[in-house]
Amino acid sequence: MTTMESLIGLVNRIQRACTALGDYGGGEQAFSSLWDALPSVAVVGGQSSGKSSVLESIVGRDFLPRGSGIVTRRPLVLQLHKTEEGQQEYAEFGHMQRRRFTDFALVRKEISDETERITGKTKQISPVPIHLSIYSPNVVNLTLIDLPGLTKVAVEGQPESIVQDIETMVRSYVEKPNCIILAISPANQDIATSDAIKLAREVDPSGDRTFGVLTKLDLMDKGTNALDVLEGRSYRLQHPWVGIVNRSQSDINKNVDMIIARRKEREYFATSPDYGHLASKMGSEYLAKLLSRHLESVIRARIPSITSLINKSIDELESEMDHLGRPIAVDAGAQLYTILELCRAFDRIFKEHLEGGRPGGDRIYGVFDNQLPAALRKLPFDRHLSLQNVRKIVSEADGYQPHLIAPEQGYRRLIEGSLNYFRGPAEASVDAVHFVLKELVRKSIGECQELKRFPTLQSTIAGAANEALERFREESKKTVIRLVDMESSYLTVDFFRKLPQEVEKVGNPGNPAPANTIDRISDGHFRRIASNVSSYINMVSETLRNSIPKAVVYCQVKEAKQCLLNYFYTQIGKKEGKQLADLLDEDPALMERRLQCAKRLELYKKARDEIDSVSWVR
Ligand code: GDP
Ligand code: MG
Repeated sequence: MTTMESLIGLVNRIQRACTALGDYGGGEQAFSSLWDALPSVAVVGGQSSGKSSVLESIVGRDFLPRGSGIVTRRPLVLQLHKTEEGQQEYAEFGHMQRRRFTDFALVRKEISDETERITGKTKQISPVPIHLSIYSPNVVNLTLIDLPGLTKVAVEGQPESIVQDIETMVRSYVEKPNCIILAISPANQDIATSDAIKLAREVDPSGDRTFGVLTKLDLMDKGTNALDVLEGRSYRLQHPWVGIVNRSQSDINKNVDMIIARRKEREYFATSPDYGHLASKMGSEYLAKLLSRHLESVIRARIPSITSLINKSIDELESEMDHLGRPIAVDAGAQLYTILELCRAFDRIFKEHLEGGRPGGDRIYGVFDNQLPAALRKLPFDRHLSLQNVRKIVSEADGYQPHLIAPEQGYRRLIEGSLNYFRGPAEASVDAVHFVLKELVRKSIGECQELKRFPTLQSTIAGAANEALERFREESKKTVIRLVDMESSYLTVDFFRKLPQEVEKVGNPGNPAPANTIDRISDGHFRRIASNVSSYINMVSETLRNSIPKAVVYCQVKEAKQCLLNYFYTQIGKKEGKQLADLLDEDPALMERRLQCAKRLELYKKARDEIDSVSWVR
């Protein structure tokens, strides 16, 4: 295969693959331009001028309906695909995919049948094309288009408009700038009356893409020849004229095959007294060669624009892929990796919330700086240490024997009773921080772009994080309660040692104590006790105001920062492939879109590599 054949084949393959994928999204424009990048070859000419015959001999196969009268009544878009040497030839119809025709007589019958399916058994025409692909080692990659012949009058059974209809249809194909025109004129008619040349000149005034083909050289009147035309004297074209001898109707009737027909054509030119000197530049085989050489130069000139088109498509597809998210791997190992990556992405955002960079972490400080001190201030110590209560508790603690110097038991009971009040604010701080953390988890999941595709994983991560926060909360509560309990389990001795001894009113040896011990102790005495306890409690409150935040940060915030998902990680490590895949399930429409996008991307990338590799060799 020459480099150019492989390049044409390549563009063909991309076109076919794109069609098979079904076009969508931003690739559309690139796709249609790519479609236009590959030239097609259309035959134009009067009815029965030999158009179908010429196409057949370029292909080297008998498969087109031919004959007198209007035989070709719908456009036939024929894609030739070169296959590896030794492969069997076959044909496939666009309207009947997956059925492979290996018998070309059946292909011809199907073309007739399919024509009739739209037009009926009439002489009418239809612009709806029939798509046919031929796969063969003996063809070059090419798109050929067979068209109904131009006529001058409507015959019986045809509408009056048919002359114009055919011309409009033919024109719609040949006016495309990438269409190479094979202008077919029969040699047994004056070239000045050629419909083919007339139309070709209109749509291709410069003649760059027009090839003049002269058929039926064998049918010219004895004593005349077409040298004036073939040598460009009658009508000058950019490309040289090619003379052709196709099979006559009687050859067709006798089923003369292509090989024999080509040999006869070669012999005709080789032995012709008129055309002998032109023999090497005549005939269908030469025409095929000329066409493929022309296609080569056309495509070569288009390589840069094809490449830039492909690069543009790749860029577009890449950015779409980024938008859609990369495809999920199929094997369990890679899926686990993906899940862990997503967890880490979430974790990063969560940490930013805690440490700053994103808002929310400051609310934890708010708990320590405002909520906790306010709660501590509001504790009902005034009530607990009221004169009445102090008197009651101290007296009860003394029992039947009132205290002598200082009411130690009374102090202890008053202090223990007060310390119990600290449990409330301690637990409330834990809860408040817990809710801040929970809110940050919710926010972080919402902000994690990577997770957006995976609703199941989102809720699984949220569940795992909240479960962990719940565990931290429990641990934190235990710890702060322990801090409070520790305060009551051992009183700071120094504090009491420093208290002034109360001896003045108790046990004055000169004044015997009154009978009623309670009366013996004045209000001032209890007020002093209350004030002493209160200072001690204030001291403890100050300590707890500092130590509760430390405990909360240690048990909840630091844990959340360092190992929020640790437990989840150990769980997920034990999961099977199916469970992992379930976690990564996405919106099916999104998956489908990505699949399409990925396929197309792969296709374009392969195309780029192939073009790179062929465009430098010659
Ligand atoms: P179309 O209508 O332009 O497609 O023409 P066809 O290919 O169907 O041919 C019309 C008729 O002309 C058929 O009977 C062919 O056998 C005959 N024909 C075409 N080219 C030649 C030729 O070069 N020599 C001879 N003798 N007959 C030809
Ligand atoms: Mg025809």
